[in-house]
Amino acid sequence: MNRKLWMTVFCLFGAIEMMFAGLTEDNRFTLPPLPYEMDALEPVISRETIEFHYGKHLKGYVDNLNRLIAGTPFEDADLRTIVKYASGPVYDNGAQALNHILYFNTFSPQAVHEPSGALSEAIRRQWGSFENFRRVFSQAAVSLFGSGWVWLAKDAQGDLVILQESNAGNPLSRGCVPLLGFDVWEHSYYLDYQNKRADYVEKLWDIVDWDIVGARY
Ligand code: MN
Repeated sequence: MNRKLWMTVFCLFGAIEMMFAGLTEDNRFTLPPLPYEMDALEPVISRETIEFHYGKHLKGYVDNLNRLIAGTPFEDADLRTIVKYASGPVYDNGAQALNHILYFNTFSPQAVHEPSGALSEAIRRQWGSFENFRRVFSQAAVSLFGSGWVWLAKDAQGDLVILQESNAGNPLSRGCVPLLGFDVWEHSYYLDYQNKRADYVEKLWDIVDWDIVGARY
């Protein structure tokens, strides 16, 4: 190999190395890939909504979080630790990052429509039937005032609870484990359902994969 070619290879490796160094410093958390195609959840959630919600909103929370934790005690913490212990903007962006990762990873175009096993039993114990659970959960999602989330979570005693959370609220900050979250911020449904939040909530049940929720339980 002649000298000029060596220099080219050398510079190329240098550039690649700098690129990766930049990635580890400024992008500690990265946007996790979607487990399905952008249009796979249609007609329940359109490609356009996914493009904005995942590609812009979630990316924004991840980018903000990376910027906010740089040089703080949360710099090397995992996402759940950040959500459990942070406050202010670090909590808001960390919780929104985790909330959306859980949300997007709950859905499947080939969803299993009912829980089974221990989760199914626990839902029946708490709400009498799966149908009644869905009714109570939907009601909580529709009646939450303003932006926020409704969660099915497991509390410290191991019991199931439905939680209404404003803004970025995640059950981890109440000592509960999040199992299923419905985003009721307007950005999650306005392109597809406009002001009809109840229609969006009702349709979401078609794509919730209960095998995924059960694995979290
Ligand atoms: Mn959202």
